[in-house]
Amino acid sequence: MLIGHEPGLVQLVNYYRGSDVLCRKTAMVRMFKEFYNGTAKPMPPWLPESFVICPQNLTKNLVESGEQGPALRRKVSRPDDRKEFLTTAQKLSQQEKKPVVWIAKSAAGAKGEGIQISSNAEELVQFVDEQTQAYVIQRYVMNPLLLEGGRKFDIRCWVLLDTVYNVYLFREGVLRTASESYNKDDLTHVTSHLTNHALQMEQSPNFGMYEEGNEMFFPEFDRFLRKKYRTNLDISIIPQIRDVVKKSLMIVKERISTNLLGYMSFQLFGFDFLIDDNLKVHLIEVNGAPACARKLLPDLARSIAMTAIDPVYPPTSLKGRGDNCFIKI
Ligand code: ADP
Ligand code: MG
Ligand code: MG
Ligand code: MG
Repeated sequence: MLIGHEPGLVQLVNYYRGSDVLCRKTAMVRMFKEFYNGTAKPMPPWLPESFVICPQNLTKNLVESGEQGPALRRKVSRPDDRKEFLTTAQKLSQQEKKPVVWIAKSAAGAKGEGIQISSNAEELVQFVDEQTQAYVIQRYVMNPLLLEGGRKFDIRCWVLLDTVYNVYLFREGVLRTASESYNKDDLTHVTSHLTNHALQMEQSPNFGMYEEGNEMFFPEFDRFLRKKYRTNLDISIIPQIRDVVKKSLMIVKERISTNLLGYMSFQLFGFDFLIDDNLKVHLIEVNGAPACARKLLPDLARSIAMTAIDPVYPPTSLKGRGDNCFIKI
């Protein structure tokens, strides 16, 4: 989308150049590791321990999968964290005296496709070696907070970055729920472990049984927290989410800022979180072109316009326009 693509007007683009550093899973892990290695601080507790693994025979795998031309030349095997991963996996399982579970997710994957969960570290690395793109292998959050029916969920929050790098959190969010109970003893039972909407819809016979479209919105989740945990969203969850969002975007600021370029940027991000049974928030992924729950779309679209576009191109009238649902954080 280009706004103001006319002589004499400054262009406003709904994309921050370089935001892939957050939105590609492998890039995000590399970026966080680089950042924290350069400081005295340990890795943040809200990022599950993660490693980047590149298929060892990437070129061969690509040729075998029928890939040709420039794509083939762009992708080459790179040094990765496999040694560190295998050592850590072994150390942790000894320390904790039980198998530690890991999840492998592809760099550009989405909708829960191509994901493997296993406590066998070698087997996971072998699995990645057969793939045609780099993967993140990440510690699996084994103790998710569970909803009625013992079901797992993840939380999608919408975050807006405006032209001068103010960060806003949309006041509504959505829980994407599993429609089957969490089964920690069977890691292959995908619909109990992966909460992606499309995957639940296609693979679970119970889709929509608990919540319409397997979506729960914040007011209902807040009631759940009050009833079962004697706390609420604003006290226990939102402050952690704000902290993760602010830190993540501050860390990438230098890399994606369009400060000195001849156009202005804004961007909507979808931050996805898991919550464990100690009510700790974990960052799972950041999406650069996030979908929005249908019910929230009108509020979201209007609020984006009011926050990111109006200050640059003031509207002639604001009559009957409704609230701005973004909160600056
Ligand atoms: P995708 O881009 O395919 O949606 P995600 O990183 O969101 O990839 O992973 C898909 C789903 O897998 C998440 O919605 C969540 O239910 C589950 N998941 C991802 N990472 C973890 C993790 N570290 N621990 C537990 N569950 C996870
Ligand atoms: Mg995704
Ligand atoms: Mg996801
Ligand atoms: Mg993504």
